[in-house]
Amino acid sequence: MYCNQCEQTGRGVACTVSGVCGKKPEVAAMQDALLYTLKGLAMYAHEAEKQGELDSEIGRFTAEAIFATLTNVNFDPERLAALIKKAIAWREDLKHQFGGSRPALDAAMKFIPAETIDGIIEQGEKIGLLIDKKADADIQSLQELLLYGVKGVAAYAHHAAILGQEDSEVYSFMFEALTALASKEMELTEWLDLVMRCGQVNLRVMELLDTANTSAFGHPVPTEVPLGHRAGKCILVSGHDLEDLKLLLEATEGKGIDIYTHGEMLPAHGYPELKKYPHLFGNFGTAWQNQKKEFADFPGPILMTTNCIQEPQASYRGNIFTTGPVGWPGIKHLAKDFTELINMALKMPGFDNTEDKGSVLVGFAHQTVLGVADKVIAAVKNGDLKHIFLVGGCDGARPGRNYYTELVENTPSDTLVLTLGCGKYRFYDRKLGDIQGIPRLLDMGQCNDAYSAIKVAVALAEAFDCTVNDLPLSLVLSWYEQKAVSILLSLLYLGIKDIRLGPTLPAFVSPNVLKVLVDSFGIKPINTVDQDLSAILG
Ligand code: SF4
Repeated sequence: MYCNQCEQTGRGVACTVSGVCGKKPEVAAMQDALLYTLKGLAMYAHEAEKQGELDSEIGRFTAEAIFATLTNVNFDPERLAALIKKAIAWREDLKHQFGGSRPALDAAMKFIPAETIDGIIEQGEKIGLLIDKKADADIQSLQELLLYGVKGVAAYAHHAAILGQEDSEVYSFMFEALTALASKEMELTEWLDLVMRCGQVNLRVMELLDTANTSAFGHPVPTEVPLGHRAGKCILVSGHDLEDLKLLLEATEGKGIDIYTHGEMLPAHGYPELKKYPHLFGNFGTAWQNQKKEFADFPGPILMTTNCIQEPQASYRGNIFTTGPVGWPGIKHLAKDFTELINMALKMPGFDNTEDKGSVLVGFAHQTVLGVADKVIAAVKNGDLKHIFLVGGCDGARPGRNYYTELVENTPSDTLVLTLGCGKYRFYDRKLGDIQGIPRLLDMGQCNDAYSAIKVAVALAEAFDCTVNDLPLSLVLSWYEQKAVSILLSLLYLGIKDIRLGPTLPAFVSPNVLKVLVDSFGIKPINTVDQDLSAILG
């Protein structure tokens, strides 16, 4: 196997024996075979689009199938095999309907998966993402940047599509990018161009997701979320899928079961159409990388709705379920029927006492923040508010991530901290006070809500009649997986400069590509907290 798509990649280069995330070589081979199959499908889809007749179901399927290859999403060879079969069925259907050919893509277009999983694994091992030492390192780096950006786009497109928000241009871009990645016919500047377009398309898909979430569940409002628990039966819901949470809240109404959020599901408490359920009680645990310890302590079943699953431990293996794109071999996968999960919650002990562990405040998405924009602008003008930090992104296991905790704790009292993503668990319960009634620490939501931060930054720039780069605003981001890559590309597409990125830079960025990013956008790795704060604040 060769996988270097996330921040915790082996030795900072690539996972080659087994994934640090728990991905076995067999699963890596299945995911590689799936991506290869999707490239063949994409070429025919691209051709069909030229004839103006593509069924949008193919775009939806492609997004869902790509999503299965993101970090910590689907480790189940059988589910991956089913996706490969479905991709082949779509490909053959398009081939017969519309035809099309690209000699450089012949192999992907004609790929026939083996009948057995072992056979597909053998095929996948030969068509994986092995680094081609003879290829231009910078072109290869841009291809990987594009692939991982497309993975982020696919994840957001899948979330938006579930709630009825789609744009055929997003699917078209996925087909175009996959076709380009299969043919590898382009020059360096063309790859760079496609990478930037990925950022543009990702901005569109994040906008779609924002519309999807706010149309379905309302605009988030400031909401106190208990961190403790109360006596009673319980279910824990992790991941990002708000629709799954809504379905579960409906299905458990009146059953005496409390629903707790975990990880990236925490911001769900701020949505009016979710918080109206009194049994959506509180948040349990912290970010994804602590689940092996935390899930063992939860006295009810657990539902994983999107990425972030780690190998289930024996102590809770019998009471964890997956749904949506997530999969783990041997773990029961639920469609939209949560009866089995609910029955297990009724059988399990639940909490036998009530414990108050304080609370955190969520719900500061763009509408709420822009609702106090006048106050923010006035505070900047009169000097009460000197600087705004956006400290956002994913959490992870590396020790260097304490940087983000220390940074937030050391921000001066005349600064605001906007945050989003699960990286906030390192400081989300800090009481930083307020500036003229505005809390200094504002949780804008999931990593999926990066669009909110962009909207606020653009609105402030308009109010001050300047560019986002001229605002007293600094972006200090933590990345882990491929959605973060696509968000970074969107920020670069918008021309946002001087982003600080950590805890380490992506292994797949070559020195020359990094130089372009540094020269053009001023991207810099995080340094020490003291050095970064004094550089930012002058
Ligand atoms: S997803 Fe990350 S940890 Fe998992 S195999 Fe790939 S690079 Fe390694």
